[in-house]
Amino acid sequence: MRFWLAVLGSVTIFLCYLCFSGLTQDSSSSFPEELEVVTILMYHKVSPDPRAGGLGMRVPPEKFAWQMAYLKTQGYTVVSMGDVADFIQGGRSLPPKPVAITFDDGYRDNYLYAWPVLKKHGFCATIYLVVDAIGGYNFFDAGRQPRNEMLRWDEIRAMAATRQITFGAHTLDHPSLTAVSPEAARYQIVAAKGLLEEELKQRVDHFSYPYGDYNSEIAAMVERAGYRTAVTSVQGVNRPGDNPFVLKRIRVSGRYDDRRFASELAYYGPVAGEQKGTGRR
Ligand SMILES: [Zn+2]
Repeated sequence: MRFWLAVLGSVTIFLCYLCFSGLTQDSSSSFPEELEVVTILMYHKVSPDPRAGGLGMRVPPEKFAWQMAYLKTQGYTVVSMGDVADFIQGGRSLPPKPVAITFDDGYRDNYLYAWPVLKKHGFCATIYLVVDAIGGYNFFDAGRQPRNEMLRWDEIRAMAATRQITFGAHTLDHPSLTAVSPEAARYQIVAAKGLLEEELKQRVDHFSYPYGDYNSEIAAMVERAGYRTAVTSVQGVNRPGDNPFVLKRIRVSGRYDDRRFASELAYYGPVAGEQKGTGRR
């Protein structure tokens, strides 16, 4: 009797093993490559103050805190723009559900309200600075947006020192690069990188196009200037082999409630890969 029980036990263990190995083989071989995507979130201001501007560009801090907690609880992995560059150029795979967090312009509220939340979760992020506005205000938006304080050098250095926040360039004074002369565009791209590198004593590898305006000539200038990536405002996710100088992002509006944030992520993210090509809602 004991012998037969032992035989039965061994057979069961063996069958379980077959099941398990069959399952793992199935799931890895049937994982379609097109689902390998990286999502880049685009933020501007994170502020509770309505006087800082409308919700189109301003996410209230409690919403931002909820969104970061959501990334954590839903199994997203926050990656840096350097990781994105490695992934896009094909050299490296990323952990499950990779998301990069980016902020345009360099508002002081990023330090006051976003940074404590990022720090708490151990998330990295990239802030694209308008170099001539550092320590001042958003002069480039005068007449269109309320006056906002921009990050100061000591705040930038404090965040840079942690290596958790990477600083990218968003030009010197935020022109539309397709509207100025090629010489002026090149100067904005090259000088912003040089000035930031000199101040931060770090490489500046990442660029963001003001107003999301770019063309192939401008993208080529960014590449020649020695950057590794450039982000646009085109909605979508990125795949290996895509051009790293025209990366897509997902805009996070302050008007999005929790459900809308989750659906934006799911719509573009890896879990919604099958919807690809069905068009935007
Ligand atoms: Zn901008």
